[in-house]
Amino acid sequence: MRTEADKIQNFIDGQFIEPVGGKYLDNIEPATGKSYSQVADSDSRDVDLAVVAAEKAFVDWSCTPAAERSKILLRIADLIERDLEKFARAESIDTGKPLSLARGLDIPRAVANFRFFATAILHTESEAHITDNVAFNYTTRQPRGIAGLISPWNLPLYLLSWKIAPAIAVGNIAIAKPSELTPVTAYMLCEIAQDVVHGTGPNVGAAITAHPKINTISFTGGTVTGRKVAEACAPLFKKVSLELGGKNPNIVFADADLEAAIAGSVRSSFANQGQICLCGSRVFAERSAYKDFVDRFIEKASKLKVGDPLDEKTEQGAIVNKTQLDKIKFYVDLAQEEGGKIALGGKAPKPINDRCRYGYFFPPTIITDLPVSCRTNREEIFGPVITITPFDNEEEVIGYANDTDYGLASSVWTQNLNRAHRVAEQIHTGTVWVNCWLVRDLRVPFGGMKASGVGREGGEEALRFFTEAKNICIAK
Ligand code: NAP
Repeated sequence: MRTEADKIQNFIDGQFIEPVGGKYLDNIEPATGKSYSQVADSDSRDVDLAVVAAEKAFVDWSCTPAAERSKILLRIADLIERDLEKFARAESIDTGKPLSLARGLDIPRAVANFRFFATAILHTESEAHITDNVAFNYTTRQPRGIAGLISPWNLPLYLLSWKIAPAIAVGNIAIAKPSELTPVTAYMLCEIAQDVVHGTGPNVGAAITAHPKINTISFTGGTVTGRKVAEACAPLFKKVSLELGGKNPNIVFADADLEAAIAGSVRSSFANQGQICLCGSRVFAERSAYKDFVDRFIEKASKLKVGDPLDEKTEQGAIVNKTQLDKIKFYVDLAQEEGGKIALGGKAPKPINDRCRYGYFFPPTIITDLPVSCRTNREEIFGPVITITPFDNEEEVIGYANDTDYGLASSVWTQNLNRAHRVAEQIHTGTVWVNCWLVRDLRVPFGGMKASGVGREGGEEALRFFTEAKNICIAK
C-alpha cells in the first residue's frame, strides 16, 4: 500500500507514471502548514494519455457482464475496508479533518458507495412500452463511454467514490481528477482500481471538460467553478452533472425537541470544520425559544475540542489551506462590519501543540444580530462560521430560508408533523431533513436547486446519468 509520504504520480493504463511535463506541486498538511509529499502537476497532455488508455479499456469493460463488474466493485469495497485505518489516517493528514471523522464517516461511506452500485446494477429493470397494435418499444441503457469526474477537497474519497462507483458499474471508463489539495486517498485507491490524473483545476480539470472524447462530466465543487465547467461543456453537448455550493438554512421551531435540535444543529454547523456543502450555515430559531436555544447552542459548541486531527479526542481539526482560512477570517470581519455580534469564537486559537504550530485552525464561530439579507448571510463561507437569526412565524422563516441564490439542503426541527410537511414542501432545496441532518440513504436523489447545481446523483438517478437511453421501436 502506498502511503501519504510518496511522490504522487498519475495512474494511467494500470501504471503509475510521471506527468508528461515532469512537474510536481507541494502537498501541504493543513495541521502543520508544511509540505509532506509532492503531487503531479499534470496538463492536457496527461489527459490525452488517459483518454487513449480509456478508449482502449472501454472496449472490454463495456462488454463485461454486469455480474462480473459487480464482483470487481465488491472486491474494491472489501479492499478499502481491509485498509480502512490506513485510508482514514491518510485522509485526516491530507485534509486536516479529525481522524475519528475520517474513520467513522469518509472511508466507510466510500466502501458503501462501491457496494451500493455493485449490487444496484444487478437489480435494474428494463422498460417496454406497447403502442396499441402499432409497435413494441423497449429501452436500452448503454454506457456512455469516458466519464470525467472532478471532485473537491472536503470529502475526497467519499465524493470521488460516489462518482467512480456508478460510472464504472454501468460500464464506462472513468478519468478522475481529485482536488490537488487532497490527492492522497485517490492515489491509494489506484493501487486497487482506477485511472487518475492529478493536477490543478485550471490545467487538468479544464482539459477534461474540454476534451472532445470525454462525453460525460460529473463535477462537484464551488458554484463559480461549476459555471466554468458548464460553459466549457455546453458547446460540446456533454452530459453534465453539477453538484455545487450551498448556504443551507437550519430552522428550529419552538415546538422542537430542543435537546435534539441543539445537538443536531451543532453537528450540522461544525462537522468537518463546517466544510461540508450540506452544513447548515444559517440557523433560524423561533423567537419564543430563541434565547434558550442560543444560550444552549453556544454552550454546546464551546465544548467542541479543537485539536490535532490525529488526536483521537479532537472534534474540530484544521482548515484545508491558508486560502480557505483567510476567506473565513475575511467573512468574520465582514460580519462585524455588517453589524454582527460574535457570540462565540471569531479568532484563530493559540498554537495547539508543537506539531501544529503553523497549522490552519479556526474555532467554531457563532454570529448573531445580522440582517437576513447581508452578504454574510448570502455568500458561502465554507468554514466553522454560522449565523443565528430569530423569526416569528412559518411564513417569515420560509421567506428567509429561500432568500439565497443557493438551494442545496435544509433542516427543519419541529414536533408538529403537519408543519414539517408544509414547510418542507415550500423550501427550495434539493434535500430537506426533518429532525435530523446528513442522514444519507444512497437510493435517494441527491443534488441542488438554483445555484447549487444541475441534475441529481444517487441510486437510479446516477445509473441513468452515466448511461444513454435508447428507444428501440419494432412495428407489430
Ligand atoms: P472548486 O474550487 O470549485 O474545485 C472543485 C474541483 O474542480 C477541484 O478538483 C478543482 O481542482 C477543480 N477545478 C478548478 N477549476 C477548474 C476548471 N476551470 N475546470 C475544471 N475543474 C476545475 O471547489 P473546492 O474549493 O475544491 O470545494 C469546495 C466547494 O465544493 C464548496 O463550494 C462546496 O459547497 C462545494 N461542494 C459541493 C458539494 C455538493 O454535493 N453539492 C459537495 C462538496 C463540496 P483543484 O482544486 O485541484 O485546482
